Amino acid sequence: MNIAIWGTGVFGKYIEEQLKDNTNYLIRYFVDSNEALWGQEINGREIISPKRLQEIYAKELDFVLVAFLNGIEIYGLLSQMNIKRFGIIWNRVLEAGMLLKADLSEDKNIVWSNAKYLDKPVLRRLETNIMDGCNLNCKGCSHFSNLFAQGASVLFEIYCRDLKRITENVYIHRFNMLGGEAILHPQMIEYIEYTRQLLPDSEIEIVTNGLLLPRQTEKFFLCCAENNITISISGYPPTLQLKDKIIDILEKYQIVYIFREDVKEFGKNIDLSGTANPRDAVKRCRESRCSFLREGKIYKCPFEALGNRLFEHFGLDIRLHGGIDIWDENLDWSVLAEWFMKPHEPVDACRYCGEEVKIAWEAAKEPALEDWVVSKGV
Ligand code: SF4
Repeated sequence: MNIAIWGTGVFGKYIEEQLKDNTNYLIRYFVDSNEALWGQEINGREIISPKRLQEIYAKELDFVLVAFLNGIEIYGLLSQMNIKRFGIIWNRVLEAGMLLKADLSEDKNIVWSNAKYLDKPVLRRLETNIMDGCNLNCKGCSHFSNLFAQGASVLFEIYCRDLKRITENVYIHRFNMLGGEAILHPQMIEYIEYTRQLLPDSEIEIVTNGLLLPRQTEKFFLCCAENNITISISGYPPTLQLKDKIIDILEKYQIVYIFREDVKEFGKNIDLSGTANPRDAVKRCRESRCSFLREGKIYKCPFEALGNRLFEHFGLDIRLHGGIDIWDENLDWSVLAEWFMKPHEPVDACRYCGEEVKIAWEAAKEPALEDWVVSKGV
């Protein structure tokens, strides 16, 4: 089959390396929207523009393989371009260094254009806290976990109710379960099983600081493996001391994992004056793709969902009022899904996000407002 790979970066090249000796597929082109690359070659294959792809697709190609992070964001564009067959590769293939199946149509890490679940609107990514509290309590935590009691969690009934409502209306491409520290929750296995039941075709990831992994039961690991859960470990300094142990155990149970690079610093950026330019803020933001579910609402990001915890804790007279009510009977789910496909669309809360200042990572024994705030305004 003749194919084109959309993506010329590390991901695209990683896929090309895997497919170059696969006789089922002949890579004819690379595609990139960056004009500066058009006409150049990667290993003898020309890089073409999306417009040229549209012109030659029907005559020369059997399908297009999308290989860049968050490739799902061009899902609508590919349909508009009348690209009849395409496959969008899950992020974790690159992030966890996975090998695709020799027959790509059988690989569950690819969203194919004819998949039945795409009959619904596509919500690119959603994340939610399982636990609000944490066992590490990083200074300046972007989920404000050290301002919650360690045992604070999201009720299973609320989690189930909200997730069911959303999955009845959209296909969630990628779902992250986090916190706080998600695996502090004694019912974690139930959360995992229910989530996979509702999201049979989604990339599901547990994000963890990893410290409790060596103490989990065999039942937990078997549950993760059986439910095809990715475990994403943030490499904080205390986590690194357990790195080999953690990797050994995850490999023993054949769990797909991502060990994120060493986390040595955090960023703080909150400007209490609320005068930051929202469009500039969202463009430089690292969390603009982290749409967040919280008690019946979907928010642009964790700050929009949880920021009031900071303001309340320090007695500040500021409140955020964002979020989209998933129980609103007039909610247009297609409009919602399309809006979340655009990471650089701001919300009102963005005006509290100033320029980021780096701080060295440390656990915060006594959280202070300065751990998050770069400007107190006037
Ligand atoms: S409010 Fe806007 S700029 Fe701030 S973290 Fe959320 S998306 Fe980013």
